[in-house]
Amino acid sequence: MKLFNSLGRELQEFKSITPNEVKLYTCGPTVYDYSHIGNLRAYVFDDTLRRILTNAGYNVKHVMNITDVGHLVSDDDQGDDKLEKGALREQKTVSEVADFYIKAFENDISLLNILEPNAYKGPHGKYARATDFIDQQIEIVKLLFEKDIAYRTKQAIYFNTSKLPDYGKLTEQKLDDKEVAARAEVVSDDQKENPQDFALWFFTVERFANHSLHWNSPWGEGFPGWHLECSAIIHATLGEPIDIHTGGVDHIGTHHTNEIAQSEAAFDVKLANYWLHNEHLLVNGRKMSKSLGNYYRLQDVIDKDIEPLALRLLFLQSHYRTQTNFTWDSLEASAKFLKRIQSWSDLSFQIDSSIQKASLNDIEDALRDDLNTPLALSRLSSIISDKNNTPDHEFLVKLDAVLGLELSNRLDLSDEDKKLIVDRTRARKNQDWSESDKIRDLLLEKSIELNDSQDRTIWSRV
Ligand code: AMP
Ligand code: ZN
Repeated sequence: MKLFNSLGRELQEFKSITPNEVKLYTCGPTVYDYSHIGNLRAYVFDDTLRRILTNAGYNVKHVMNITDVGHLVSDDDQGDDKLEKGALREQKTVSEVADFYIKAFENDISLLNILEPNAYKGPHGKYARATDFIDQQIEIVKLLFEKDIAYRTKQAIYFNTSKLPDYGKLTEQKLDDKEVAARAEVVSDDQKENPQDFALWFFTVERFANHSLHWNSPWGEGFPGWHLECSAIIHATLGEPIDIHTGGVDHIGTHHTNEIAQSEAAFDVKLANYWLHNEHLLVNGRKMSKSLGNYYRLQDVIDKDIEPLALRLLFLQSHYRTQTNFTWDSLEASAKFLKRIQSWSDLSFQIDSSIQKASLNDIEDALRDDLNTPLALSRLSSIISDKNNTPDHEFLVKLDAVLGLELSNRLDLSDEDKKLIVDRTRARKNQDWSESDKIRDLLLEKSIELNDSQDRTIWSRV
């Protein structure tokens, strides 16, 4: 199996640390607002990766976090905490805001048929919440102090990036002068030693004096910096090194760079062997984002009577490493394509199901080549177009395992109705038109309509 590793920026043959096992960590949502469908593209990518690894024979141990504290409005140390802002906006407590949007997130995830993480079970369920790992985050800061890599100012504890020779290895570039200058302009803590140093712990003083979430630490009351939670959660759940770490491309420069710095400095071990990043979903050529206001939610899709799995299919129709411009027309086209796949799948109980064995292999080959989902889908489309192919149940189950399109279990027909349809197909083959019409009328009385084309009969509920 080949994967494109951001660390080294090349396509690499995937090798797991332990045979037949993959430790997978995927960065999750910051729960101060609804997820937009750009975020959902990231989670569909994670899920597809996990399904393909499982299909390739790996036991995938998957952990995902939920950020419920510490993510400032910028991805670095500027601005307010997003959760605190959400609470102020909605006149609720931070934990009420988090609980509300976690529910909304879990609902989206289930509508898109995304599998829940399977390698962590905590007080709040299967997602690892940052606030359930405060002690572990403090432990990392302790280790960094012992190694003389952390230092404190009045406002915060920082990671001293100048102490790490390979800081920034994920971006393969040292922070150039321009970037440093840009950051220096917004640095609000003049005791910070290097502009690219990042906060491990904020004290509840000055601009954060009224921060509602805060914990005791050996250095004073405060709350953790955003990047620390992922390092702590990985250490506590999967253990370093992990095989694969994912996130959107916007995480490469700051969040993932800082996660690597913290974990590798604290534990003297590589954090992750493979870093995979999904490209952005765009609207009119610009990244879909909260701050630009150019976003849609899954609810907007549902309100247009488009089923959520059409969105999943739309994401799969472009490669995860290409930017994709979202339009409603393209989503409508995916909905049509989905209907075509579904109608074909619904033939699976017919008497003479036949599908060439090579078909599934061709699809799997495409998927194992750095998740080439567009190629896999075009192969599926050719299979469907070939009138010699009618699916069997087993084929659909295998397809579902990798694509997650719920093709194998959508058939809500009773065995009796299935038998009637099969009998009618047989009658038509034998040119017994009166028998065939009789069965069709019988089914219509049960609100099942049959539509014959040259080579197949499609049924639908009316
Ligand atoms: P956040 O809740 O902001 O931490 O983002 C959650 C995930 O969505 C991260 O992996 C981001 O990189 C990703 N993401 C944010 N915006 C987009 C977008 N427009 N397209 C694809 N992924 C995105
Ligand atoms: Zn993370």
